[in-house]
Amino acid sequence: MRFSRLLIPTSKEVPADAVLPSHIYLLRAGFIRSVGSGLYNFLPLGKIVLDKVRAIVKEELDKAGCQEVELSFVTPASLWRDSGRFDKYGKELLRFEDRKGNEFVLGPTHEEMMVELVKQSVRSYKQLPLNLYQIKTKFRDEIRPRFGLMRGREFLMKDGYSFHRDQEDMKREFLNMQETYSRIFERLGLDFRIVEADSGAIGGSGSKEFMVLADSGEDTLVVCEECDYGANIEAAVRMPAKSDAQEPERGLEARFHTPGVETMEELSDFFHIDPFFMVKTVARKALYDGGEEKIVLFAIRGSDELQDTKACNAVDANELVEPSADELESVGLVPGYMGPFELPEGVRCVLDNELAQASGMVCGANMKDYHIVNVDMSRYDGEFGDLVAVKEGDRCRRCGGRLRYTRGIEVGHIFQLGTRYSEALGAVFLDENGKSRPFEMGTYGIGISRLLAAIIEQNHDDKGCIWTKASAPFAVEIIVSNIGDEKQMQVAEKLYEELRDMGVEVLFDDRKERFGFKMNDFELIGIPYAVIIGKKLSEGSVELVKRRGLERESVALDEIVALLKERIGL
Ligand code: ATP
Ligand code: MG
Repeated sequence: MRFSRLLIPTSKEVPADAVLPSHIYLLRAGFIRSVGSGLYNFLPLGKIVLDKVRAIVKEELDKAGCQEVELSFVTPASLWRDSGRFDKYGKELLRFEDRKGNEFVLGPTHEEMMVELVKQSVRSYKQLPLNLYQIKTKFRDEIRPRFGLMRGREFLMKDGYSFHRDQEDMKREFLNMQETYSRIFERLGLDFRIVEADSGAIGGSGSKEFMVLADSGEDTLVVCEECDYGANIEAAVRMPAKSDAQEPERGLEARFHTPGVETMEELSDFFHIDPFFMVKTVARKALYDGGEEKIVLFAIRGSDELQDTKACNAVDANELVEPSADELESVGLVPGYMGPFELPEGVRCVLDNELAQASGMVCGANMKDYHIVNVDMSRYDGEFGDLVAVKEGDRCRRCGGRLRYTRGIEVGHIFQLGTRYSEALGAVFLDENGKSRPFEMGTYGIGISRLLAAIIEQNHDDKGCIWTKASAPFAVEIIVSNIGDEKQMQVAEKLYEELRDMGVEVLFDDRKERFGFKMNDFELIGIPYAVIIGKKLSEGSVELVKRRGLERESVALDEIVALLKERIGL
């Protein structure tokens, strides 16, 4: 393609709200344009890359036995009511009515719709397994759309759903997808890690995320320094924590007057004990379907922090929010003195699993100015759950190695769904005994448009994008240093034709611009190689520039095609 004919509006200006390199460069290099909060237009370069990513995803999925379909974006709200998600999904779900007053949603994901499709068309176990996917626009009215394509409101996702006769077959397909996704991200040239992910209130290990490692990632990952354990902080586990701190002196359990001692720090100073031996009781307001709200308590060690996603799952809530002091007092709680024992009537409290065997602990007495000392937590007869956020330095449950944090961008997610949706929507098949059974399902997503941002987060320098081989909009760019020089133009035209005839994706910068300006654009856009046709042509040579590292080498004109072939890997 000729640069002069392509719509590539590059710019020097850094957009005001853009902080991440991917956001800045994709805008500046003319891949995308913002149209509103979390909404983007894709310009020719952006569309080329988007289609390349999409093609790789499609190729690998089709090879793995998946079938592409395309579902209606506008989804009848009734399906979402039947699955129970119409209320649960919250404000991210865009709901609207048509002229007749029928309710619809814009699909943020398509479980309901795909289950409906399969319900209508599949009757027998003989038609299973099935893995159906689409690559299609999604809409989520995200609370904080930001970072460009990373977190848009309208975005392109690959969403796939598999249907099976039993769990065993569903697990087989889950592994098949794990391998297929790995191949996709390897082909895209990404440095990624597969981590255990939150599986919601259902729990279990049937949920994995594909994380592109990048400091700018929104997700905190816990990884082991010794083995290959990795988990999203929302799902990370550890060996029960130990402490070297001196144990408090043991005595009889008793209520202790602790006037004005309200924080963990004050308590630690007051009793001269390590927070490890104190119970931190955190209050949250849990939100449920139909607007129901409930104050719940979570008790963990004073040396730990509550992990909100784990806590939310433990009480099966849609969301947890911070309660006000008034709200706490209205249910009989005393801020600063809350604890898991002698709770006011009707207040639910979940204890962290690691507290089950703890003794000699200090906790709030649920009474103004009082704590209880020497508490043996094993006498707690309420609920337990995994509530704590794993910290750096904690020990790996698999191998005892040291755990540390790293950051990642979630580009893919695979999930063993089970019969959650098929049961709710009455999607059944007849098994070999003629018995009607709900489909066992898996669901698999890839953030296609987010991948463009993730690739650039991992591959850029202070000048611009550095596309990986498989994602680059063009494999090579030809830059003529002086388009007034007839000889230079002639050679460039000939090289352009030759490369094109060989099937090389080549961009020919034939614009009437200064050489420096064109070089800046090359660096900003990030095509892997440039051939510069300039002054050295009189000596029979051209220059080859590699975008990564910007290394330059002089190459004899009659050798450039062969060398490019080798470098590009034709
Ligand atoms: P996140 O935790 O980042 O909000 P999610 O877990 O809600 O994502 P999924 O429902 O698992 O997302 O969707 C599948 C994939 O779609 C994600 O792995 C991600 O790559 C992509 N994705 C999700 N939300 C967005 C968004 N707002 N903009 C761009 N891509 C997105
Ligand atoms: Mg996800």
